[in-house]
Amino acid sequence: MASTDTTTRTSSSRRRSRRSHRTEWHLRRPVDAPAADRSFWLQDAPAGPALPSLAGDTTADVVIVGGGLTGLWTALRIREAAPEKRVVVLEALTCGSGASGRNGGQVHSWYESLDRLTHVTDAAEAERLARATSEAIDELHDLQSSGELDMGLRLDGWLWTASSRAQEGAWDDAVRASSALGVDAYTPQDADTIARSTGSTASYVGVRETHAGSLHPGKLMRGLRALAERRGVVIHEHTPVDTIRIGPRPSVVTPTGTVTADAVLVATNVWASSIPELRRRMFIVDSEVIATEPIPERLDALGWTGGEAICDAQQQVLYYQRTADGRIVFGRGSGRTIFADRVGASLNRRSGERTDTVAELHRVFPELSDVRIDYDWTGGIDCVPEHVPIFGALDDQRSVFYAVGWNGTALAQIPACSRIIASMVLKRDDEWSGSKLIDQTSPTLPPEPIRFIGANIVRAAVVRKNRAEIRNRRPGLLTRLILRLMPGSSEH
Ligand SMILES: Cc1cc2nc3c(=O)[nH]c(=O)nc-3n(C[C@H](O)[C@H](O)[C@H](O)COP(=O)(O)OP(=O)(O)OC[C@H]3O[C@@H](n4cnc5c(N)ncnc54)[C@H](O)[C@@H]3O)c2cc1C
Repeated sequence: MASTDTTTRTSSSRRRSRRSHRTEWHLRRPVDAPAADRSFWLQDAPAGPALPSLAGDTTADVVIVGGGLTGLWTALRIREAAPEKRVVVLEALTCGSGASGRNGGQVHSWYESLDRLTHVTDAAEAERLARATSEAIDELHDLQSSGELDMGLRLDGWLWTASSRAQEGAWDDAVRASSALGVDAYTPQDADTIARSTGSTASYVGVRETHAGSLHPGKLMRGLRALAERRGVVIHEHTPVDTIRIGPRPSVVTPTGTVTADAVLVATNVWASSIPELRRRMFIVDSEVIATEPIPERLDALGWTGGEAICDAQQQVLYYQRTADGRIVFGRGSGRTIFADRVGASLNRRSGERTDTVAELHRVFPELSDVRIDYDWTGGIDCVPEHVPIFGALDDQRSVFYAVGWNGTALAQIPACSRIIASMVLKRDDEWSGSKLIDQTSPTLPPEPIRFIGANIVRAAVVRKNRAEIRNRRPGLLTRLILRLMPGSSEH
């Protein structure tokens, strides 16, 4: 991020000259997870019969590749802004089979990212985006209370806590920045209030964002797919896009047909890394999640009765919630990166590699170490060095667009930003189209294998740092030096 203007201009003009010669992009297909390897959410709230695959050649105003939160929310926003537009979503597997159906279900605003947003946009837009995410939480609540979309949303707050000295005050900048805007987004929490809300004494200081909480990602995705259909979006599942062709009107090619449209939106999260222009700007990490057997009485006895989203501020990011049926869903960033764009089955589940996450569960809830783990799964996170999403066009005609880089925070952020993405794709000139999240320039990441080797050195240092800090010890000199030179990521 410390790049100079010259660096960013150079990489941006290089990007432009590369894209002008390209006539098509080839995409990678996601690998389907066997039913037993799907997330607890997807097994608990299966989507029902798949929607029909594309059959033959057709046209649309906008074709969206990917039926996750980005694809479906953008489709809805396009129909809201321009109800006459024909929007087709093509999903390789089923809607929500990617990160959108596997996440931790934590819903919170972007007030925690005001500094990053200001750095990438400006103070006015950062404030606007943070407010938009808070309004998106209202919208989720309204969708649920009107009966349109049951997503299991419980606005019981988001607890951002410290379970070791090194984590204390991780929220200070967010509290300061939001207070400066006159927004009381966060309330201080002491050890007693945290213990009463979480049933755990591991975290002893923190803040609570009141207008936040948790939801059931499986229900959300099942409901969002139905809502999009009700609002006139055409969705084809089991329809992988293999090729995007540039032309006066771009087209996407699938095994069972093509769609030619005015605009194509690539909303494929980590799988967007098969596009070289995006691979240079993003890196993929994975996050592991486990779900226990239902133990509602034991959680009640601990005093943990609500639907708070909880995290502690360690760099590997620990996040957990109590589900409505009394399980603990407990996730942790593994920091593992994927070599090049080889996104494969390991992003569904890394069999036998849940030990660290289970150990953390037992650290936070030592009295629950006998509890059975019923589910474990993995999900891929699309990271960019900016730490806030990047939107833009891949071609000079501006007809093939992308929206990636959610960095593990999306449930309120995508409904908010999908207005920007929709305006960009429709080429409208409105309150959203001037967003500085569009066409950001950034330094390109190093090529493989340097990137992979560097990322693994950083990951090993982050793991060592976490292990030391959780025990209130200081990490070793080498670890500190590595992390100072190459700051690691802190996503889910
Ligand atoms: C383990 C984990 C925990 C997380 N926890 C949280 C959390 O608690 N709170 C929060 O706000 N965010 C969280 N996130 C982040 C959030 O889930 C994601 O940022 C968000 O779901 C991204 O949505 P998406 O639509 O961009 O991607 P996805 O949901 O991954 O959707 C992309 C879709 O594209 C499809 N696709 C790929 N290639 C093709 C192709 N060639 N043709 C057609 N379709 C294709 C895929 O099948 C997939 O369905 C978490 C993420 C993970 C992985």
